[in-house]
Amino acid sequence: MTGLGVSHEDTPPHRAVALVNLGAIERNCRRLGRELGGGSVLCAVVKADGYGHGAKVAARAALEGGAGWLAVAAASEATELRLEFPETRILVMGALATGGRSADDVENALGARCDIAVWRPEFLAHVAELGETTLLKPRVHVKYDTGMGRLGERDPEVVRDLVRVASEDERVELAGVWTHFATADEPDSEFFDEQLGRFRELALPLKEEHPELMLHAANSAATLRDPASHLDMVRCGIAIYGLDPFQEDPAERELEPALELRSYVAAVKRFREGDSAGYGRAWRAPRDTWVGVLPIGYGDGVRRGLSNDADVLVGGRRYPLVGTVSMDNITVDLGPETEVEPGAVAVLIGAQGAQQVLAEEVARRLDTINYEVTTGILPRVNRVAVNETRFDEGA
Ligand SMILES: *Cc1c(COP(=O)(O)O)cnc(C)c1O
Repeated sequence: MTGLGVSHEDTPPHRAVALVNLGAIERNCRRLGRELGGGSVLCAVVKADGYGHGAKVAARAALEGGAGWLAVAAASEATELRLEFPETRILVMGALATGGRSADDVENALGARCDIAVWRPEFLAHVAELGETTLLKPRVHVKYDTGMGRLGERDPEVVRDLVRVASEDERVELAGVWTHFATADEPDSEFFDEQLGRFRELALPLKEEHPELMLHAANSAATLRDPASHLDMVRCGIAIYGLDPFQEDPAERELEPALELRSYVAAVKRFREGDSAGYGRAWRAPRDTWVGVLPIGYGDGVRRGLSNDADVLVGGRRYPLVGTVSMDNITVDLGPETEVEPGAVAVLIGAQGAQQVLAEEVARRLDTINYEVTTGILPRVNRVAVNETRFDEGA
């Protein structure tokens, strides 16, 4: 049994709240750290507001759990984090625009003393010039596209050239060489092995030449599937939040979901057979029943695609979401006899009693991945950081 346990049953009901268990993030990081066996550093990926969990609290918990670095996608995310973590290494993994009207992305990232990605000679030259004028020595990670087909340089000769130029230029510091996998989450993927082979072939000799160079390639899935991908650093996002990169039950890989999405039963009403709930009358009571109304909807990130296709936990039992998901409300069928009263806590993602609804389950119903489920929780949902020990049944 994983999740936040039951101790929040006593707190007054919230319209829509995401409880973020910092203890779980910390333990997930420790667990990943054990996987690394001390030979590689854990970089906690907290882009997109920490996959919806809150970037700052997630980062703090991850560092507490042994992460040594943080990574984000955008310069704006990096500058926010820098205010909170003055000393931590932060890698901005994404493309940085130059020549904007105000200070551009690359100036902001460097101003925040972040490490940045480079893969074009012109961009490296620009960064070096900025290093000269600002007297900051930009730390650059040369990105090799081994098959992802997005950012990075494809030609290994050009990558080697970039590494040489960066190492010889006094105005920049060559910090890393890195890549990213396209199919690490597909257990039988041979393409994963190809990408890793390509990367190791290029990067290991470079490391001989430049011993201080950091080689990094692995995301969560790669970290869990292949120690040969660990190298000097792993960049883990999804797993630190206790979500399974392979879309199975996170418990099977000893990961503990850190987020619980809750609402409460604001009204309980009697439905006669044939009465309908919500827009378009997309559900009609097949028999006399009780319907609970929960004040949470797609304006909070509960996707409309879950209309007539989700389960919600109330009082430790699963009830079907019925009718159309509205912007601000959903309805659940509580059955012909119910003891559920207005004010009861409802769990949309998380555990209650012996039942749990995983983000992976919600993702499956929506034909998407757990990443999009938690990242899609909208700002109207209050994030509340809690720190809970693991809930053990019978403890
Ligand atoms: C998001 C991201 C990661 C983290 O991936 P997870 O699958 O969440 O572990 C690592 N590297 C890069 C380049 C990324 O964009």
